[in-house]
Amino acid sequence: MSYLNETHDPSMQSWVVSANVPDNGFPIQNLPFGVFRPQGSPNFRPGIAIGNQVLDLAALAGVQPFTGQAAQALEACQGDSLNALMGLGQPHWSALRLALSRALRQGSAQQAVLEPLLVGADQVEMGLPARIGDYTDFYISAHHATAVGKQFRPDNPLLPNYKWIPIGYHGRASSIQATGHSFPRPVGQTRPASEGGTPGFGPCQRLDYELELGIFVGQGNAQGERIALDDADAHVFGLCILNDWSARDLQAWEYQPLGPFLAKNFASTISPWIVTLEALAPFRIPFERDANDPQPLPYLSSAQNQEYGAFDIDLQVFLSTQTSRAAQAEPALLSTSNFKEAYWNIAQLLAHHTVNGCNLQAGDLLGTGTLSGPDQGQEGSLLELNQGGKQAVKLPWGEERLFLQDYDEVILLAACHKDGYPTISLGQASGTVLPARV
Ligand code: MN
Repeated sequence: MSYLNETHDPSMQSWVVSANVPDNGFPIQNLPFGVFRPQGSPNFRPGIAIGNQVLDLAALAGVQPFTGQAAQALEACQGDSLNALMGLGQPHWSALRLALSRALRQGSAQQAVLEPLLVGADQVEMGLPARIGDYTDFYISAHHATAVGKQFRPDNPLLPNYKWIPIGYHGRASSIQATGHSFPRPVGQTRPASEGGTPGFGPCQRLDYELELGIFVGQGNAQGERIALDDADAHVFGLCILNDWSARDLQAWEYQPLGPFLAKNFASTISPWIVTLEALAPFRIPFERDANDPQPLPYLSSAQNQEYGAFDIDLQVFLSTQTSRAAQAEPALLSTSNFKEAYWNIAQLLAHHTVNGCNLQAGDLLGTGTLSGPDQGQEGSLLELNQGGKQAVKLPWGEERLFLQDYDEVILLAACHKDGYPTISLGQASGTVLPARV
């Protein structure tokens, strides 16, 4: 089977000139969906990114230049979120992508209709792309799970369930924000200094980030029904970048027996553009499981999933601080990683999440968990970079960090690279830590 179609032609160019600049990240082959408002406008509305421009889909729906499923999909782009479009399902998303691709191509007869509906990307404010009903965070990097597990259980870092089930927990949707926001350092309880003593209380001292991707569910499933592994990709609208900010000292005291709670739910940051699975099709790669590991149970395994189930997406973490910004120093690169190193893949997460009959809904967000790689320099959190709080990370402008300090900004980037194909960017997710409110 092929996931590729005419929208993936690598030689295709757009009449939007900036979309043709090599490595701009938003070429006509990308066409990610988001929600924006022009400066001075009160109303958020759906749009797509093309080069350094945003095409106003709500305004385009008023003109309605398309027919059939593409027209129906465009009709769904008139609210202040993408939920209506997400709920229509994959054939509608694909029809709209094809219509937009044709309309934005060099030589398109629809250029005159679309051109007045473009806004400069630097002239808009990006919002949350969806009303996120539910948020689940997984834990799918065995490299991350092993590195963190070693700090607590040196002889037995991976718990026995890890290689059989995609581990996850239900997070909180209300505190998810789009890139560019800031939030106060969380306050809470920490482990008593001596066993049986009174817990500490105050601002978090071990604030961390987690380098993750977010998976936006499109069409959901009815309660009681499962999403089969080979149907799962058609339920995924697309991917964004996710920072699952984590208060490690709060986490260490509260996480047993029910898992993360206040250590995680004070803030999460996502990139505002959702890159569709269709746009990511050229970056599908085989899903490989080490021969020494157990093969997944049948509901998590198929020939199609093994052949196409993983994605090659490069990830980067940058840090800037109050000091570095004052010195006009570039943000420091802390680590690089790749989604392909994960132990489980996207389709497996949906199949597992619904195997018990749990219903997913349009706009639900699934986090991958910290996407660390196997090597040094591929750590997806400070907890790994600092070896459990023992080894400070040296920054190029002379500062050090064990954990995040006030006014630190963490910038996560993701993009797909391949010879002979334009770079497909997922944009960035950045957030800044403010002082605690005590
Ligand atoms: Mn996480």
